[in-house]
Amino acid sequence: MAAACRRDAGARGFYDLGPYHRIRDHQKAAGIVFQDTASVLFGVAGLQVTDAQALPDGTLEVWAVTSDPAAAVCPDCGTVPARRHDTVLARPRDVCRGGDPVALWWVKHRWKCDEPGCDRKTFTERVPQVPPRCRLTARLREQAAAEVAGRGITPAEAARHAGISWPVAHEAFAAAADPVLDQAPAPVAHLGIDEHRRGRPRWRIDADTGEYELLADRWHTCFFDLSGQQGLLGQVEGRTADDAAYWLAGATPAWRDAVRVVAIDMCTIYASAVRRVLPGAQLVVDLFHVVHLAVKMTGDVRRRVARGKYGRRGRSGDPEYGIKNLLVRNLEHLSPAQFAKVTGALQADPAGQEIAAAWIGKEKLRHALNLRARITGSVPCERNVRDRLFAFYDWCAQNEDIPELLSLAKTVSRWEDEIVAAVLTGITNSVSESLNRLAKLEARLAYGFRNPANQRRRVRIACTRGKRRRSRQVTTQMSRSVTGRRHDPG
Ligand SMILES: [Zn+2]
Repeated sequence: MAAACRRDAGARGFYDLGPYHRIRDHQKAAGIVFQDTASVLFGVAGLQVTDAQALPDGTLEVWAVTSDPAAAVCPDCGTVPARRHDTVLARPRDVCRGGDPVALWWVKHRWKCDEPGCDRKTFTERVPQVPPRCRLTARLREQAAAEVAGRGITPAEAARHAGISWPVAHEAFAAAADPVLDQAPAPVAHLGIDEHRRGRPRWRIDADTGEYELLADRWHTCFFDLSGQQGLLGQVEGRTADDAAYWLAGATPAWRDAVRVVAIDMCTIYASAVRRVLPGAQLVVDLFHVVHLAVKMTGDVRRRVARGKYGRRGRSGDPEYGIKNLLVRNLEHLSPAQFAKVTGALQADPAGQEIAAAWIGKEKLRHALNLRARITGSVPCERNVRDRLFAFYDWCAQNEDIPELLSLAKTVSRWEDEIVAAVLTGITNSVSESLNRLAKLEARLAYGFRNPANQRRRVRIACTRGKRRRSRQVTTQMSRSVTGRRHDPG
């Protein structure tokens, strides 16, 4: 009958099953035992499917018995019992099949251990996918954990999808994530340190004074791999110098020695922690924050001058207000018409001259920072950078009546070595900032975290997802190149 079917199929030109059957006959002759097709498709090692039925509501009902002899070995003494004590029905929850739920009915035996020295009287059969007293298959847990870790959904959503409770999904995720996160980070040449606000600050109105009082403002200090692909290396609660130093001190001396450059925002507390724990590392400040300070200074001067000139805040119709968005742009990105608009608005009166001085100060500072190789295409010379910074200081000194400009010059001079190092090395904290965005996204997805440990775990998994994905791609490519067709040297 089967041969007739094969012949018919071949005659109709659908499939040529000849080679398949020849291989199967050959394997059977060699003594290879095959599982039945239903058990292979069901895919739980140690279980043999005896019956399956699709119910009208879409549920797939699967009946199975134990097929693995090792499942009936006494877990205490390791002997194979001779006496069967009972037959029980287990109903572990399993993964869906094509979106439809699967109802698994596992008919398994309870065995009686007759070994004289063994304390265990009876035990039920167990397979690796369904350990004793477990009401879920291991693959269902793994699926929930993988969805949280790999797809970035919340444990609550993974639990809903898998039909399990939040604690079970969360526990599965933690069990999968913790061994990965506990691995010591590989050596890092360029380290980034940044702070990340954990939740929002809480305030309370003081009943006596009527003033707002800060109740809680919770922060995480985060450490990033700027030169490699490791993403977020670790987090520590708080944002003091001691908090940052505590995490750095926990690393091995060899790891600390490997750090050559540390990028931070212009933040003295992290600078002091780095100088204390990583004395051999070069500190650089993120240039985005330097430019940001200069842009903010220009805005501050414009607002102060407008208030002095009009006795109110600037508004539409004021010439200074009309160019406020042009003032924050980079000079080289202004069209000739826009440049003319700015100069026309600022040269009308002394108030405009003051704003122009601040604007020129900002551009003089940017002129020094623009020496970095990413913009010029060539390695900058330290002397050049310091010369241009000197021109910026000189301009600030000429306009010492503008307090915002003086304040900026003082800040820049305080961080001059770190700014010059940033221009020379071209290292920025941009990786930290982009991963901070992911960290914020995780907090939003979770509608905030109560538990800081849960937050750190979720954020670190989110901020190392790219690394795991890349390592998987490398593994796949390697295995392809090994198993693929060999290159014929002839
Ligand atoms: Zn036993």
